[in-house]
This record gives sequence, C-alpha cells and structure tokens, in this order.
Amino acid sequence: MFEFTLEKTSEKSKARAGRIVTPHGEIETPIFMPVGTVGSVKGVAPRELDEIGAQIILGNTYHLHLRPGEDTVAHFGGLAKFNSWNKPTLTDSGGFQVFSLAKLNKIGEEGVEFRSHLDGSKLFLSPEKSIEIQQKIGADIMMAFDECVPYPSEKIYVEKSLELTTRWAERCLKAKTRDDQALFGIIQGGVFPDLRRRSAEQICALPFEGFAIGGLSVGEDIPTMYEIADFITDHMPADKPRYLMGVGTPEDLLNGIERGIDMFDCVMPTRNARNALLFTNSGKLHIKAARYRLSDEPVDAECGCYTCRNFSRGYLRHLYKTGELLALKLNSIHNLHFYLSLVKRARNAINNGFFEDFKKEILDKITFGGDNV
Ligand SMILES: [Zn+2]
Repeated sequence: MFEFTLEKTSEKSKARAGRIVTPHGEIETPIFMPVGTVGSVKGVAPRELDEIGAQIILGNTYHLHLRPGEDTVAHFGGLAKFNSWNKPTLTDSGGFQVFSLAKLNKIGEEGVEFRSHLDGSKLFLSPEKSIEIQQKIGADIMMAFDECVPYPSEKIYVEKSLELTTRWAERCLKAKTRDDQALFGIIQGGVFPDLRRRSAEQICALPFEGFAIGGLSVGEDIPTMYEIADFITDHMPADKPRYLMGVGTPEDLLNGIERGIDMFDCVMPTRNARNALLFTNSGKLHIKAARYRLSDEPVDAECGCYTCRNFSRGYLRHLYKTGELLALKLNSIHNLHFYLSLVKRARNAINNGFFEDFKKEILDKITFGGDNV
C-alpha cells in the first residue's frame, strides 16, 4: 500500500527525484505539502489545491483532536473524505503543538500531560494515544510521537530527550494496527552532530516506512540548519523518503533538496499570503505597498496561477487594503502555486541533470530581485 521508488539522484549533489505510492494516490518528490491545520488549507478549496498542483496536504493531530475530535473525522470516513480532498494526506503526531502551543506540559516516560490552548482542559498524549488518534483520522502517512526540544537546550537534556524519543518511536510502531497507513520515524538531537547521528542510527534501525528530521527551523541560524540537514541525510537510508519538518522558505526548499530531502511542509506560503507577502520568481513582494496602487502587472509574469493569469497587483492591493476575503484566497493561491511550481521545476531539473544550475539561477533571482532591490 505504501511504496517509495528512488528514480534519480543528481551526480553533482545529493538532490533526488522519487515517487511515493499511497492508498489515495501518488506523490512525485521532491514535494511541498500545504498545511491544512484543522482539515482545511486556510482560504483554499480542494479543487483549487488540485489546480495549484498540490499532491498531499497535512493535517495537525493536536488541532483535529481538539476540534472536531478524531471520532468525528472517523465517522466521515477519515480526513481525505471528510474534507473532500480525496488525495494523499499526512498527520503530524501532535507533539510539536503540545510542546509549543499547549500550556503547562509535563513530560514523563509515559507521555505528556498538558492543558488545551482553547479551554485549559487537562489532556494527555502518549505514543499509543497519538497513534490511536492518527489511525482514526486515517491519513496515508502518520508521524511518530517525539519530544520536540526547545532551542537552545543544554546538550545533556537533548541527549536524554533523544533516547526518550527512540523509546517512544518503538512504542508507536507497536501501537500501530492499521496496515493501510505508513508510519514515519523522527530524528532529533538538536544542533549537536554526534547526538543527531546517534538519533539517526537508532531511529533508522526501526521498521518505519520513512524518516523525518525534526527539531530544525526552531530558532537556530540558517547555516546551522543546512549543516545539520546535510550531515544527517548521510546517515539516513537512501531507499526511504526523507522529510524535513516545518521548513521553510523557497531558499530552504532548494537547499534542502540539494542535501537529499524529499518532503517539506510549512505554514509560510499561506501565512505570508494572509499578511500580503507574496513570493515570486524575482523575489518577495509586499503587495500592500503604495507603489503597486496603479500597477497593472500580474504578481509574477512567470507564474501561471489563477491569480497571476487574471488579476493585477493594483487590484490585489485594493482587495487587501479593503479587507476583502478574496485577497486572502488569491494571495494564498499564488504563494502555494509558487512553492509547488518550485519543487516541480526542481524535480524536472534533477531528472534532466541540471538541478544545481537551476538552484543557482533561482536563488540569484529571488535574493536580488523583487522588493529587495
Ligand atoms: Zn501566481
């Protein structure tokens, strides 16, 4: 039911193109996964996601557990049916939100006790509970329950935490009963190469269908993030998908792909769209700026999305300034299309042997163009 095929690896870097087969369809990698926190990618309908080129979307276990509850999602036949996406989905373990969003969390060997950020009610999440919830939500890919250590953390704490994450990973595998869902393990270890290596050796020895790098993009500087990602992919199996969680900017995606990453997710394209920050092939653009008032140009002349094919920068600025809901939708469609087109073009470049040149060309354009000039 779940298969990963590595189709091509670059001769000049670790960039790779592959294909994932899931019960809800195929995913061509490298891929970016739009985030649908409570079962909806904010402001964008599934039909629009399809047109944008999305192949898999993410749901957050913590949020879906609180509202509407996993039993409700299960009642409707699982997440992909409930939200009428009907294509591949992935759920995180809930861990990240428990550690970052919930209040007063208390971590023990058994799991984490915390209070809901909505009403303060007392809740408990353990590896077994996370898998139980994720099995009811029914995504094609589930994530193991791990401890996300804050940055910065003392090495001694990170070391203890990664050992706990490994024990929890083993418990997640034992708790899994559905065989139509894949389960990915998560490598932790903070910014310490020796701990990252130990975590990778422990987690990658377990029978997961894929592996993720967690605990990056949490406040460390960008060169450190790239260094850790580069180092850690050397200790991950080549025949399983590699997922860099919660990352990132268009630059991060290209740098991650170069280091052998296959999957990414981030709220950045949709969150920035709602704040009028648009990504283009010639750099970032602040659409609310006064200089766009009379601009009849599209956001990005190289972009084929619905927004760029039909609307001017001047109209998008007007929509945003007047607080129209359509501004959020059109901006989100463009930003997601930009991200998905970027990974699609990267895949094409890998398959045709020019990824490194493609990366350099795009990075030069987005670093020195747009509102940066
Ligand atoms: Zn566009």
